[in-house]
Amino acid sequence: MPLAVKDNICTKGIKTSCASLMLDNFHPQYTATVVQRLFGAGMLLVGKTNLDSFGMGSSTVDSTIGPTKNPWTSKSTETSLDDGDFRIAGGSSGGSAAAVASGIVYGALGSDTGGSVRNPAAYCGIVGMRPTYGLFSRHGLIPLTNSTESIGILTQTVEQCTHMLNAVAGHDPLDSTTYHDRKFEKVKLAAEPSVKGLRIGIPQEFHIRGTSEEVIDTWSQIADNLEKEGAIVKEVTLPHLSYTIACYAIINYCDVASNMARYDGIEYGHRADREESTEALFAQTRHEAFNNVVRSRIFAGNYFLLRNNYDQYYVKAAKVRRLIYKDFLKSFNDVDLLLTPVTMSDAPLHSQLSHLDNRRQCEMQDFYTLPANLTGVPAVSVPIKLSDNGLPLSLQLIGRHFDEELLLNTALFLERHCNFPYLVRPVWS
Ligand code: GLN
Repeated sequence: MPLAVKDNICTKGIKTSCASLMLDNFHPQYTATVVQRLFGAGMLLVGKTNLDSFGMGSSTVDSTIGPTKNPWTSKSTETSLDDGDFRIAGGSSGGSAAAVASGIVYGALGSDTGGSVRNPAAYCGIVGMRPTYGLFSRHGLIPLTNSTESIGILTQTVEQCTHMLNAVAGHDPLDSTTYHDRKFEKVKLAAEPSVKGLRIGIPQEFHIRGTSEEVIDTWSQIADNLEKEGAIVKEVTLPHLSYTIACYAIINYCDVASNMARYDGIEYGHRADREESTEALFAQTRHEAFNNVVRSRIFAGNYFLLRNNYDQYYVKAAKVRRLIYKDFLKSFNDVDLLLTPVTMSDAPLHSQLSHLDNRRQCEMQDFYTLPANLTGVPAVSVPIKLSDNGLPLSLQLIGRHFDEELLLNTALFLERHCNFPYLVRPVWS
């Protein structure tokens, strides 16, 4: 089956650029473990896919090779898009989502640091899941952050996602952050999944201003339907949820400042033409090859990491993260899964977002997806129906750590219940 891989995941001998000039000439010497495992399962790599440079973004518009457009645009009921305007594919794994939605590949890999698999999956009308942190190897993933990032899977159906998950999950001796104290049991999908007796939580704090009525209606309609099918739907509270954006931003920028330090023009990647001193070479190389988004995150991260600021920012963010984590654990005493939106609307037009900088765009786009990254729990975006614009609307299920089986069985139930009209139905569907 054909496979596409986000271009921040290493493939031996094949350019892996992170959609940045910095790695435009980078041909890795090894293949990421998850890709290797998919090769072992019989998949064939047909291409590397576009992303926001180094995964920093939620739209796949901040890439050196240009934006990825949402394949649904052409099917949209709007006929008169301004010249050059398009529906965004979401991001940062927008290339992977577009490839799957348009039927080019059976499945694709993305990376999800704050929502980068689920967000484009939602906008492109496909299934996108990030596993429990530590379930998939990150060996060969060029890191954006460390503790919030997982490789994730994008496919058209839940069954395809489960096949890929079963092929890649489990301990990897090359990645010390994968779990080694528990054996991965393959996820089994029920022939007739049911939600009878399942306790589904609706987090009160996920009701925020700015989310479109259509998204809210879809959310409550599906909650009602699940109740009718026998689920116990109840409100839960996650009191520290409003801090997720700020908390994530600090952790992300600090990780970026440190992870990007390796790009200095000496070992690999772009090298500027400045030989008078090593420092001048570093500075010129980084100036030439990082875009503004990457540079500004490095600046902010280094500021937060200054000795005088460290406690006030990084340590505080780590503490707030722990509070958010505890909120989640507590809510999972009362419910088995959470049901939430993934995005605030259907895929926006590029022109609706282009006046906002990358930071503002992420603030708007990542709200619903970030909590799973900060807490390490698995989450999946499932396409539900079409909006009035004729574009996909999706919902998110969030599960307990290592409860991928319940998560995916419930996603399968939703998929059958909704019978979403896919854009393209390839032969393997
Ligand atoms: N939008 C978030 C960011 O830019 C998340 C990106 C991601 O998940 N890779 O950091």
